[in-house]
Amino acid sequence: MKIFDSHTHLNDVPFRGKEEIYLDRARELGVVKSAVAGQDPEFNERAVDLSQRFDNLYAIVGYCPDVAKDYDQKSEDKLVEQLKKPKTVALGEIGLDYYWDESPRDVQRKVFAQQLDLAHSLKMPVNIHTRDAFEDTYQVLKDSHVGEYGGIIHNFNGDPDWLKKFLDLGMMVSFSGVVSFTKATDVHASAKVVPWDRFLIETDAPYLTPKPYRGKQNETGYVRYVAEAIAKLRDTSVEEVAKHTFENTMRAYGIK
Ligand SMILES: [Zn+2]
Repeated sequence: MKIFDSHTHLNDVPFRGKEEIYLDRARELGVVKSAVAGQDPEFNERAVDLSQRFDNLYAIVGYCPDVAKDYDQKSEDKLVEQLKKPKTVALGEIGLDYYWDESPRDVQRKVFAQQLDLAHSLKMPVNIHTRDAFEDTYQVLKDSHVGEYGGIIHNFNGDPDWLKKFLDLGMMVSFSGVVSFTKATDVHASAKVVPWDRFLIETDAPYLTPKPYRGKQNETGYVRYVAEAIAKLRDTSVEEVAKHTFENTMRAYGIK
């Protein structure tokens, strides 16, 4: 079995200097590829470094809503340089976060739209973070014709109505450990109805640890348990979920 973790933070503090240990543990669980997501200049740089050091790692770089207020021409030039590296596969995580509100909302929307324009011009897919902001996220993505360059809603936690709206834009969604939580009924409903060729799986480690390790620190190998939770919901095997999501991730990120 081959599993792809479409969004993880192996560039984050808990994993530093121990990347090989976590990648070995992942391999034992069938997790053979991971995309390391950046969010600010430091994490972007570390994501790119990891993608150059390890065959089975890919990088995602972008300015998340928290640091949208710092985004300027210099940031964009740096992103372009990083996006042109052969193993950088998407622009992200970018989007809107009206829960933390670390940048003013108008600035978040402006910088989000600017980065979507950049993705459009470079023909790169985008990896989207959205929290308490589905309505505006949807509108900005729609206005930017995201279907023409491709996008993934990371850690999708919406109900089937929101799922349909994002799929209709030509996007995909990625499920995290939340899908294994007993009370996440909206996510369960979405994971049951999403077409086989439109979803990915991820850990978002060190956050969102799936059952049976909920409460402990998450790690990229645990995407295996996300696959198992979805298999249960769809009344199928973990191999089937692994196979489809692996192919979908390769296609979404343009990996040969
Ligand atoms: Zn993340």
